[in-house]
Amino acid sequence: MKDLIEKIQRLRSERNAVILAHNYQPAEIQDLADFTGDSLGLSIQASKTDADLILFCGVRFMAETAAILCPDKVVLLPDLDAGCPMADMITADQLQQLKAQHPEAIVVCYVNSTADVKAESDYCCTSANAIDLVRSLPLDRPIIFVPDQNLGQHTAQQTGRQLILWPGYCRSHVVITEQDIKDARARYPDAVVMVHPECTQPVRQLADHVLSTGQMLRLVKDGAAKTYIVGTETGIIHALKKINPSAHYIPASQRAVCPNMKRITLDKILWALEDMACRISVPVDIAVRARRSLDWMIKGSQVTKGR
Ligand code: SF4
Repeated sequence: MKDLIEKIQRLRSERNAVILAHNYQPAEIQDLADFTGDSLGLSIQASKTDADLILFCGVRFMAETAAILCPDKVVLLPDLDAGCPMADMITADQLQQLKAQHPEAIVVCYVNSTADVKAESDYCCTSANAIDLVRSLPLDRPIIFVPDQNLGQHTAQQTGRQLILWPGYCRSHVVITEQDIKDARARYPDAVVMVHPECTQPVRQLADHVLSTGQMLRLVKDGAAKTYIVGTETGIIHALKKINPSAHYIPASQRAVCPNMKRITLDKILWALEDMACRISVPVDIAVRARRSLDWMIKGSQVTKGR
């Protein structure tokens, strides 16, 4: 592994590449990356980088977002099959049909969506800023929220707005059950329970905090708890341990693993850098329209981030 990492480091420097890794990536890839974070944090890093090449360790919609934000840069995703089943649960055609049924509606899409769907949307958000975005929208307009019904439902509950939801979901989060949380609480009665908004409502209701992965990291960094029950993809636990090694982290479910996130390996990273393989690009007409929906996510969220 040491050899492999040295080769990657050498090529990273020769190609003036930045390596971005999502919090759900395998531990060795998080350790290798220049930046780790949630979708919002990584999108902001991509938009600010002066590197010539962005090597994205995550899933396709994340690399597409980087390509839209940085049209002058080469973006590589080391495994082109690393997709997001939730993003694929709605197509641009389906969204167009939904818009036709609600012609007055503002369309908000979760960043976990294809570039085509972003191009059909008015605003794009992440789990870290969906509530801020919906609060900022005019009260006299209906709002369509796609594709994640769980994040949409959570956002509706927190804002008091009625959202028109799409029945998408993340398989890696809906496997976490109410019983998982009850069992974990029984075993660790003093633990703080934090879950991701992609979890189902009964699970969210049992949690102390409903947070994006970036918000979980901030909570743990500042927190005094000794034990945290973590209701999201288990890869986050590596990042949590790095930020606060003295606490204990218990996965709410060992089944909360995203197989697509785990497709990225050190071998594939090296191969992508050597061959400049697995390039992600977005057609210009789609990218221009999708960029408009991403603008609030990048600029607006930096204004509201401190709240
Ligand atoms: S964890 Fe869920 S939402 Fe995230 S990439 Fe995997 S399938 Fe998609």
